[in-house]
Amino acid sequence: MENLFIDISEKKVFEVEKIRKDFPILSRLIHGKNLVYFDNAATTQKPRQVIDSIQNYYVNLNSNIHRGVHYLSEAATKEYECTRKIIQNFINAKHLEEIIYTRGTTESINLVASSYGFANFKKDDEILISAMEHHSNIVPWQIICQHTGAKLKVIPMNDDGEIILEEFDNMLNEKTKFVSVVHVSNSLGTINPIKYIIDKAHNFNIPVMVDAAQSIQHLKIDVQQLDCDFLAFSGHKIYGPTGIGILYGKKKYLIEMPPYQGGGDMIMSVSFEKTIYNELPYKFEAGTPNIAGVIGLGVAIRYINNIGIEAINNFENELLSYATNLLSDMKGLKIIGTAKDKTSVISFIIDNAHPHDVGTILDRDGVAVRTGHHCTEPVMRRFNIPATTRASFSFYNTFYEIDVLAKSLKKVINLFN
Ligand code: PMP
Repeated sequence: MENLFIDISEKKVFEVEKIRKDFPILSRLIHGKNLVYFDNAATTQKPRQVIDSIQNYYVNLNSNIHRGVHYLSEAATKEYECTRKIIQNFINAKHLEEIIYTRGTTESINLVASSYGFANFKKDDEILISAMEHHSNIVPWQIICQHTGAKLKVIPMNDDGEIILEEFDNMLNEKTKFVSVVHVSNSLGTINPIKYIIDKAHNFNIPVMVDAAQSIQHLKIDVQQLDCDFLAFSGHKIYGPTGIGILYGKKKYLIEMPPYQGGGDMIMSVSFEKTIYNELPYKFEAGTPNIAGVIGLGVAIRYINNIGIEAINNFENELLSYATNLLSDMKGLKIIGTAKDKTSVISFIIDNAHPHDVGTILDRDGVAVRTGHHCTEPVMRRFNIPATTRASFSFYNTFYEIDVLAKSLKKVINLFN
């Protein structure tokens, strides 16, 4: 631990100090200490540009979209639809109408489970998910299985927290009707081989949904190259506002799928006898949406594009390996999730210390981490532990901050052992 405070900012690989100035909250003091924000997997901080765009919307543009002929409504609609194009380009979707606004990853998955599931699943069909799913990629499928009689099957993982691909291969059969897997695990950091999973499932004509809640902010995602059928992510995990998310779906599926919710905007015409639904993507966007959220998300993606997702990924990988090396050397600390392919997340347990106590002590040093099951209770059960402490990194974090974490952890280890 002697080398904790070696200043390796000399490397100048990434203009992190300049970037940090864009995030007002990062200069806050917490309990009199500089905030070290390592809870990025729960939600990311917002750059000034995103915050300003939300304020600008309410100060200068506030108006309902799509239905007005007046100036403000048209201007708000233009900004709102502009984000759709930004997202389309960001994930390289073939068609603009394949981008659907939702409240977040959770709603995107519920939309597909409910709309696609009700229309297509029947008794004894099999739906595959992995052993490392977030609850939001488990419960919606359980609900639809209860209603349709389909069965939920779980692809197991090994002790490093990697999906066992041979098991997956063996589970695919003519009864399999859908596969939904997480791209990056929020509690283990594992990057799953989703291209392999998608290609294998497609050999059986099975559609695949990707939960990209923890990958969209770290990895380059090209939905055409991946050939995934659905993909979900949340705005707030990619430096945008809460309450807004994206569902990408292949047009051929979205066209056939029934609406998820009924209401304004999702209809072409309504009478008491018959309603004709609106075209894509509006068929899936009932009611007044989160207009400011959509606009803020567009600005967030532009912000990411300006830095470049590859540069972000490279820097975050350096942070991860620096932190992994430091933490691996600590006696009494065990990292949970040791997959070969990982990004931005370190989960760990400390001998004799409950993660909540660890989190509380770190908090007194200004270090924000998450403790608990991280909405992945089955993952905790798989590793036979009640909870972990999780530090998750963003490109605005520094090596120095990891040193602060390590120093604080050292204190915890000494206290409990
Ligand atoms: N999937 C994963 C892997 C996640 O990490 C999260 C958020 N922790 C979700 C789904 C749900 O995202 P949201 O709460 O933004 O809908």
